[in-house]
Amino acid sequence: MSETISNRLMRVADLRAAVSFAHAHGLIAIIDNTFASPINFRPAEAGFDLSIHSATKYLGGHSDIVAGAIIGRADLISRIGRTAAHLGGSLDPHACFLMHRGMKTLGVRVRHQNQTAGAVARFLTDHPKVTRVNYPGLESHPDHARARELFDGCGGMLSFELRGGVGAADAFIANLTLPISAPSLGGVESLVTRPATTSHSGMPREERERAGISDGLIRLSVGLETADDLLEDIAAALAAC
Ligand SMILES: *Cc1c(COP(=O)(O)O)cnc(C)c1O
Repeated sequence: MSETISNRLMRVADLRAAVSFAHAHGLIAIIDNTFASPINFRPAEAGFDLSIHSATKYLGGHSDIVAGAIIGRADLISRIGRTAAHLGGSLDPHACFLMHRGMKTLGVRVRHQNQTAGAVARFLTDHPKVTRVNYPGLESHPDHARARELFDGCGGMLSFELRGGVGAADAFIANLTLPISAPSLGGVESLVTRPATTSHSGMPREERERAGISDGLIRLSVGLETADDLLEDIAAALAAC
C-alpha cells in the first residue's frame, strides 16, 4: 500500500518499485491516489491492482460529501463488493448525485489547481519570510524528477514553513481572507491547516519532527480561486505576519 503523494511533505515514492515488489511477493499492489486524482496519475497504467480514493476530496470536489472509492481489477472488486454489501455503508442517493455531478468537472478543476498551486509554490519560494516549500512541481523538490516522469500534473497540495515558526504560521493563517482554515482538501475553496494541530496532533512532537513535520508547517489545498487573487491574498497575509 502506497500513497501517490505523501501528506504534509508531498514526497513521491518510487511507485514502480512498489508495484514490482508487491508482484514479486504475490501481493496485491494498492495505492491511495487521493492527492493526485486520476487526472494527474492513473495507477493501473503503472501496474497497481487497486487504487483507493477519498472521494470526499477531488472526486467530489465541493467539500459537501463524505465518500470513498476503490477502483481496480474486476475479480478483486467483486470480492470487496460482497464484503461491503455485508457491512453496509452504502452511499445515499443524494451524495451519489453530488459526487457524480462533481466528477463531471474533475478534469478542469484539477488542471486549474495544478497551475495555481505551481504559481503559489514559486511565489512562496521567492518570498523572504518563507524558509521551505514542499511541492513536487518545484525543481528544488527531492522527488521532482520522479513526479515529472510519473504524473501529468503535480496537484493542488503544497506545504511550507515561515521564518517566524508557529507564531508566524498562526498569524499568517488568521490574516488570510480567501483560504479557509479547516481540514480536508481538494474542494473549490482553498483550505489551509497547520498539521501539528490537526491531522498530526495525535502524534508526539518528537515523532512528528523525525517525520519532518515541524510545528510551524502550513499545508495549503489550492482551490479554484483566480491565481492572481490567491497570490495577492497570500502576499498580504505574509506582509502582516
Ligand atoms: C482524507 C483522506 C482519507 C480519508 O478519507 P475520508 O473521505 O475523509 O474518510 C484517506 N486518504 C487520504 C490521502 C486523504 O486525504
